[in-house]
Order: sequence, then structure tokens, then C-alpha cells
Amino acid sequence: MKVSSFINGVYVDSEEQRNITSPVTGKLITPYSVATDAQVDEAVQAAKAALKGEWGSMSIQQRVEILYKVADGISARFDDFLEAECLDTGKPYSLARHIDIPRGAANFRVFADTIKNVADEAFHMPTPDGTGALNYTIRKPKGVIGVIGPWNLPLLLMTWKIGPALACGNTVVVKPSEETQLTMTMLGEVMNAAGVPKGVFNTVLGPGSRVGDKLISHPDLDAITFTGSTATGERVAEAASVGLRDASLELGGKNPAIVFADCDMDKAIEGTMRSVFANCGQVCLGTERVYVERPIFDEFVARLKTGAEALKLGKAEDPETTMGPLISASHRDKVLDYYQQAVDAGATVITGGGVPEMAEELKGGNWVEPTIWTGMAEDATPITEEIFGPCCHIAPFDTEDEAIEMANNSPYGLASSVWTENASRAHRVGGQMEVGISWINSWFLRDLRTPFGGAKQSGIGREGGHYSLEFYTELTNVCIKL
Ligand code: NAD
Repeated sequence: MKVSSFINGVYVDSEEQRNITSPVTGKLITPYSVATDAQVDEAVQAAKAALKGEWGSMSIQQRVEILYKVADGISARFDDFLEAECLDTGKPYSLARHIDIPRGAANFRVFADTIKNVADEAFHMPTPDGTGALNYTIRKPKGVIGVIGPWNLPLLLMTWKIGPALACGNTVVVKPSEETQLTMTMLGEVMNAAGVPKGVFNTVLGPGSRVGDKLISHPDLDAITFTGSTATGERVAEAASVGLRDASLELGGKNPAIVFADCDMDKAIEGTMRSVFANCGQVCLGTERVYVERPIFDEFVARLKTGAEALKLGKAEDPETTMGPLISASHRDKVLDYYQQAVDAGATVITGGGVPEMAEELKGGNWVEPTIWTGMAEDATPITEEIFGPCCHIAPFDTEDEAIEMANNSPYGLASSVWTENASRAHRVGGQMEVGISWINSWFLRDLRTPFGGAKQSGIGREGGHYSLEFYTELTNVCIKL
């Protein structure tokens, strides 16, 4: 497969080639072409021109039909997308088959349905002369949207933005993470086959500090939607402020779980296993801080340890595999550094803490052990900073108020999980979490109509359902004097 930027309906090469390597083996997958500054500009100009062409004059129904075809196109090539996503990220097929690829297709279907069913607002108002006036709103696309995303759920997270942006009639220039570019590259073929007019969907490939920065600084972008770290989010916000462009920022997290003694322990363990270790801990919504009520603390720690030690690290395509590697060697260095900092901070290592012994062919991969700590002070850096690896710290608590205070004691506010069978407590505690998504007895349960986003340093704005329409459209109020 040739991996290069997709501009105005065609793939374009460049002289500068870089390598994509396998997180599983460390070996070369394929080279890719880095977009030049001129190509970034061409992509934005193609997107701008497409707004004035066939795409700009389509009815909502016509756009919706095309988006259904895009969704069908992903579903029809399900196995190709699955293979590419797992090759790029090293995540197990069993995970991507149920989450990443189906959601990639669903993101187009759901937002096609959303735009089809949304009603315009209308208000009648009295006027001094008694004739009255009618106000109604018209929803227009914002224009050219820059879409930038991370590597942990590449197809899922990019289409979560591309779907609603296109449903609303915008055009996009997409910069996937330089670590994971295969499925976004394939999406160009799907767009062409679905009849998406040239220039509506464009990609530019390459490092964020160069290609990404060139894109967000482009004066002809009308808005930027970004998912990634808080540090890069601040840079995106800065670039968006020039020319007063709107920016939607979905950023990092340091998510807590609170486990009460009145929980269903089996469910709490199963949910926490997923929230800590799914995707090798590389999920923005993942749990890294677990607070457990003292009477069940020892049992919870012992059972989570058993679960962590039963995880099977291995190749993505092996049906036995339940955990893959980290995305890159540099990310592994970062995670291992936190593993060391935890020891330095006096942590008791309940399990893991290092690099696992892997079979010869996998030795070059970015493997780390699933890791559980107890005994650190709440201000230790492995508890305050986002690690984005397969690890958590478990601390005991004695009262509900104490648990809420510890859970909320973070500069981040993305997601939380509360485990209790007491309905009053579930509502009381769930509502006090300072986060965008507060789960009770669950994790990663997502209805795409609901608002998604983060509080505090976990982001600005909400996407999902009609919240996405608010971001991806500009409203004009028409006021007619009757
Ligand atoms: P990152 O911020 O390093 O990179 C994200 C994207 O931004 C990449 O495409 C990168 O190339 C690009 N980029 C980097 N510097 C740039 C610049 N100066 N200008 C423009 N673009 C630039 O994040 P990452 O390491 O890819 O992803 C992990 C982070 O993403 C974690 O913090 C995680 O919590 C967060 N995340 C958040 C959500 C959410 O929905 N809130 C979802 C997934 C991941």
C-alpha cells in the first residue's frame, strides 16, 4: 500500500520519505511521503474550492446519501480496515473488530441521521405596529475544517470528527498522527468510491510539529477540531486565536474510578480491568487512579492483580492476545520512566513495573508489563500526570466525601467511573464528578447522541449529537417583519 497525502481526490507523493514501523516487532511496515508546505496549502485550497462546487450546492438529503455510502464502504472493506488498524497500532484484532472499525462506519451513519432529523428553530414575536415578525435559523457549514487527531484510536477518533463535519456540509483537511496513517489513507479510496466530490476530504501526512503546525496556522482554515494531548491543545488554541477561528479541543485525562464497598465486585473488577488495560492503557478515558473503600481494598487489589497477570501479550492477529504493545519506542521510554518514578516515590509494585520477556520475533516491539501500584502519596507525579500506559495506582478511602475529593483533585476532568449498587449514592456521587463523562457501574459505554468532551484541562467544548452540529455549523437568524 502506498502511503501518501490525499489531495483533491488523488494521492500525491513527495520527495521526503519517512518510515512507519511496527509497534509489535519494531520492523519497517512501509515508508510514507511527508506532505510539503506547498501540499498543505494545496489541500486547504482544494477544500476551499470544493465548498463552492457540487458539494456546496447539494441538498442535505444528497449529502446524507453519500455519507451512508461512505459508512457502507468502510463496512464492505471491514477486514482491510481491521488489518491496517492493527498493523499500525499493534492492538489486538479482538478489540479493533468490536470497537474501532464498527465505530468508524457508525460515525458516518449516526451523523448523517443527526443532520437529517434536526429541526430549525422558529420564534414569532410581537411588533409595536401589531403585524409581528418571524425569526428562523439557518444552519450553514463553517467552511474548511482542520481535523487533527492522535494515534490511540485512529479511525474511530478521526471519523468522529470527519463524519459530523461533512454531514454539516463542511470540507476537511485531515492530519492523522504520524504514528498511524494507514486507515486515514484508505479512507480516501472509500470517499472516491462513495462519490464524495474532489476536495471535500483531504489528508496531509507528516509530523505534527511541521505539517500539523503548518495546517493549524493556515489562514484559510475556518475552524480546527483537535484530539490529543493538553500541551498540543494549547498550541492549537493559540493558532486558532489568530483570525478568531473556533477550536474544539478534546485533550488528556487522569481519570479516577471510585469503588464502594457496596459495589458488585465482579462487575467492578471486570470494568476496571478494561478501563485500565484496554488498548494497553492508551485510551484517553482510561482509568489511572482507583480509589477503593477500605473494607474491600485488599480483596480488590488481589483480584485486579490476578486479572492483570492473566492478560496475554502478543501479536494482534492471535485470538489469545488480550494486550498489545505501546505505540512507539519513545512512548515506551516515557511510560517506563513513570514506572521508575513510581518506585522512587515509594510505591509498592503489586504487579508488573518493567519490560516483559517476549518471544524472539517480538523482542523489537514496544512491550511493557501491565502494572499496579499502591502506597504512593496523592501528590506523586505518577498519580498527578497522565501516563497513557497499562497501569494504575490503587488507594483506600474511608468516607464518600473523601473519595469525591480525591477523585476530583486533578487538573484534568475527562471521565470517571463509580462502582456502587446504592442508587442514591450513584446519582449523588456521579453528579459531583468534575468531568465530562461520569459513568456509573460501566466504562466506555457511549451513545453518540450525548455530549462528549472534557472539563478543566481535558478540553474545551463538546461534540456528539446536536453538540457536534453546534461546532460544525454557523447559524444565521433570519428575522422577517410580517
Ligand atoms: P499529541 O498531542 O502529541 O498529538 C496529537 C496530534 O497533534 C498528532 O496528529 C500530532 O502530529 C499533532 N501535533 C503535534 N504537534 C502539533 C502542532 N504543533 N501543531 C499541530 N499539530 C500537532 O497527542 P498523542 O500523543 O498523539 O495522543 C495522546 C494524547 O491524546 C493523550 O494525552 C490522550 O489523553 C489524548 N487523547 C484525548 C482524547 C479525548 O477525546 N479527549 C482521545 C484520545 C486521545
